[in-house]
Amino acid sequence: MESNKIFIAVLALFLSFTVTANTEIESLSGEAKKSQVSDSEALNTIFQLSYSASAENHPPQQYSEQQRQFNINALAKTLVTFYGLDELHEFRPSNPGSQYSRYYILQHYYNNKPVHNEIVTIGLDENNSIIKFSGGIQASATFNASKVGIKARSTTETSSKSIIYWLKNNSQSPLSKYSLTINSAVEMTYINKGEQYVPAYKVDVFYVDNDGQPNRDLLVIDPISKEIYQQSDLLKLSSEVQAQGSISITKPLHSKGSNFFKGEREYSVPFAPKITDCKFLTYIDEFYLNKRLLVTMNMSNSIIIDQGDAYMLNNEDCANESIFYEKDTVGLTYAYSPLADAHFHAELVMEMYNVYLQEAILGVCTENNTHPNCIQYYQNSGVNNDVPIYQGVHYGDSYVGAFWSGGAAYYGNGGFSILPNVSLDMVAHELTHGYQEISGDDVYFRALDETTSDIAAEAVKEFVFNKTQGTDHSYFPDESYITDYRYLFGKEIVREDNLSIRVLLSPVIKDIPKEATGIGQHDLSGPITLVFANLVSEGKLKNFKDAFKILANSKKTCVNTSIIGYAGLNLAANCIVDLANGMEYSDAIDTVNIKNELSTAFTGINLNIE
Ligand SMILES: [Zn+2]
Repeated sequence: MESNKIFIAVLALFLSFTVTANTEIESLSGEAKKSQVSDSEALNTIFQLSYSASAENHPPQQYSEQQRQFNINALAKTLVTFYGLDELHEFRPSNPGSQYSRYYILQHYYNNKPVHNEIVTIGLDENNSIIKFSGGIQASATFNASKVGIKARSTTETSSKSIIYWLKNNSQSPLSKYSLTINSAVEMTYINKGEQYVPAYKVDVFYVDNDGQPNRDLLVIDPISKEIYQQSDLLKLSSEVQAQGSISITKPLHSKGSNFFKGEREYSVPFAPKITDCKFLTYIDEFYLNKRLLVTMNMSNSIIIDQGDAYMLNNEDCANESIFYEKDTVGLTYAYSPLADAHFHAELVMEMYNVYLQEAILGVCTENNTHPNCIQYYQNSGVNNDVPIYQGVHYGDSYVGAFWSGGAAYYGNGGFSILPNVSLDMVAHELTHGYQEISGDDVYFRALDETTSDIAAEAVKEFVFNKTQGTDHSYFPDESYITDYRYLFGKEIVREDNLSIRVLLSPVIKDIPKEATGIGQHDLSGPITLVFANLVSEGKLKNFKDAFKILANSKKTCVNTSIIGYAGLNLAANCIVDLANGMEYSDAIDTVNIKNELSTAFTGINLNIE
């Protein structure tokens, strides 16, 4: 954290410089360039030269994917020239971003490795001129060749495997006493206190501590000295599942599961889970390969992560409680089982992502994707498949809450007043954390992440309502979607008729404070969620589908992890407004003048929109 503060302080210092545009950038000395780190005018001059040269013949169409790629390439080259860097340095998009966005977030790479927290955000106007420039690189480290320590240190004897081995087994490792699940281990470059570029690994790890609490940590660790430069807690569960208001039990519990509409839910064709051999698995078949898209496991009140197979229903379940849709035969699955609910709900969420975004929630297992879920089933298959989704149900002992571990969603059974946390909106919320994969501990960005998850939860209820309304298998009985479930997150799991986990139109806090110390990410997300819930409720956005599409498109396009806190959220909000404007322009959302509406709404919750 300390180095973050120093970095921000250095940035603030750079921002105070104003230097006029200079077309002779390449002849400037390193010292002079340092003072221009934040000069968007000078940057724009270089950018315009290279842009007009390459765009002369075929200017790409505005808001097309081609235009985005074109701008990324031109901006990456511009930054290298601007900073006067040699061939060991380059800039790559930290995320492809949405084609509707005018914002570009580029990660500094040194020697083919990403440099920790050296990220630049650039905003273009509609004529492709640079109008915003934030972030930057530590110029002093770049220009002082004598301080470049990376060449003096060999990394050949280290690898992610040896780091993981050390973390798991060495008594010096702070985590060796726990059973670790490694989500990822990425090689990177870290700038240490001596401003040296040193090799490091960024390790995303999940474990359960001695109190039975799940933890997800992001470590930046030196592969040789094993010094831990940074450690961030990515699971802040403080108020993950807490009903708004005081609870008394008025709702009768009809079943052991989460569904209490009738004590059973008819999962009939075509809405039944396609469950094979009484196992909670969803497959696609391609040639002779069976590809698992969704695997739901029974944790049997355990916190030990079961790396094993999908949950196999016992004979009794198969014969009585749960009768599954098989082939063309109509059947029923009675939702006496949170397992059946979690699995079925995840299928519906996957379907929504497919229909609205044409995306798999966790992306695709390409050759370079080291996601552990890919490796287990897909290595060497030679085919790019969706990353399979894993879910663990009956997590822990009366565990109240649900969470995304980095590789899987886990759902607790709840306590006396909270039913198993497997309702449709909760499953959408957790799987959307997987879609977002915001890996930083800044509470403002985690709040934005919670908003996206809560809006995805609203979108899936709306999606399923529209899909099943008026059919024999209407998911929400009668008018209950409108009267009881819309705008209310987690209503289904609270055993008190008038309570839910979050009331979207009436959040606990209504303004974004400039200082968020002591405020949890779920409370801090309230005002941002309110912006979108209000726009839908007032008819300014036609539906939650559009609200969800805006937020899904802002995934990482609008999050620059090197500009954190209130300022970072402000930048993100501006980016979301421009992104939504681009979507409206391209008819990707169905609304009128979203730029004005969103700007006004964000300003109303104390976010500055320029
Ligand atoms: Zn959450």
